[in-house]
Amino acid sequence: MENRVFNFSAGPATLPEEVLLEVQKDLLNYKGMGLSVMEMSHRSKEYVAIFDDAVARVKKIMGLGDDYEVLFLSGGATTQFLMTALNFCPEDKVANYILSGNWAMQAYKEAKKIGKKTHVAATTEENNYSNVPKEFKLSENPAFLHITTNNTLFGTQIQDLPEIPKDVPLFADMSSDIMCKPMDFSKFSLIYAGAQKNIGPAGVTLVVIKKDILDRLQPNLPTMMSYETHIKKESMHNTPPTFPIYIVGLVMKWIEEKGGLAAIEKMNIEKANYIYDAIDNSNGYYKGTANKEDRSLMNITYRLPNEDLEAKFISEAKAKKLVTLKGHRSVGGIRASIYNAMPMAGAKALADFMKEFQKNNPA
Ligand SMILES: *Cc1c(COP(=O)(O)O)cnc(C)c1O
Repeated sequence: MENRVFNFSAGPATLPEEVLLEVQKDLLNYKGMGLSVMEMSHRSKEYVAIFDDAVARVKKIMGLGDDYEVLFLSGGATTQFLMTALNFCPEDKVANYILSGNWAMQAYKEAKKIGKKTHVAATTEENNYSNVPKEFKLSENPAFLHITTNNTLFGTQIQDLPEIPKDVPLFADMSSDIMCKPMDFSKFSLIYAGAQKNIGPAGVTLVVIKKDILDRLQPNLPTMMSYETHIKKESMHNTPPTFPIYIVGLVMKWIEEKGGLAAIEKMNIEKANYIYDAIDNSNGYYKGTANKEDRSLMNITYRLPNEDLEAKFISEAKAKKLVTLKGHRSVGGIRASIYNAMPMAGAKALADFMKEFQKNNPA
């Protein structure tokens, strides 16, 4: 659509135009029902069909069998920092964390805050998280190992999953790279992701739990903090975020129409290559902040020769409809988030703009 920008926001982020158009088409009168999805009872048969369809599509795309529970909760990924530790770390065990960025750190801190025994299995904080830890060491009696697969602020992404003993559950915060490529999701006992980066709007969080760890759930937790509640009530103990869940379902359908995760990955690599090539072929004018082998497909972080040029870059990019490129303050510079829904044309336009800007603004 002509007056839409290319939005490189880290989140809430760009959504597929096809999805927005479908939402628009059905907004006032969903499939002839004479009302919008927002106005439906979450108990109505029509809404339950929308909900079940979203769950089924998530399972299909991720290749999950009936040995997994799929939940749509509210409270964001941030609430999952708390819930994972609260539900799955008994008093005699230790919650293990790989600290690969700010979000991982927040998950770790939350477990500490509620009095859990914790252990840092690895950290790259000393490098300002410009790389992902390659080695780690579990504590005695680990309750689980928690990782963050993509570090949204720092532009790094895990390439190889940690190998851990079978009886230690692997938990992952995949908020900023879930469904960006095929993955062996069966390696994970618990996965969570705030929808607003790669799979929908803000307000809903996808949580996937392998049933074989449910016997480890801690009893007697506050109702809303307990996975048991949400599993038993199929995410409808209270009113779920009905409209965001509906949109997640449409995004799932869009992924299927694009050819599934293998096709999505191919596009994501091509998009990332445009921008990383513009960095690598700039004779040092653009400097990537992430260690090359840990580079993210989703968030591309880089600096210009100085902060004045960075400010000019951001403002001139905006005039060309390339928006929200300012980096997070902990890294500075530029961050281009190119989630699944960023069109190829957006990545290409940014790469072209980078070359032109460099030519017009020598260091
Ligand atoms: C954005 C983000 C979060 C925070 O998500 P909320 O839904 O805002 O709580 C957590 N982890 C990662 C990796 C993120 O990118």
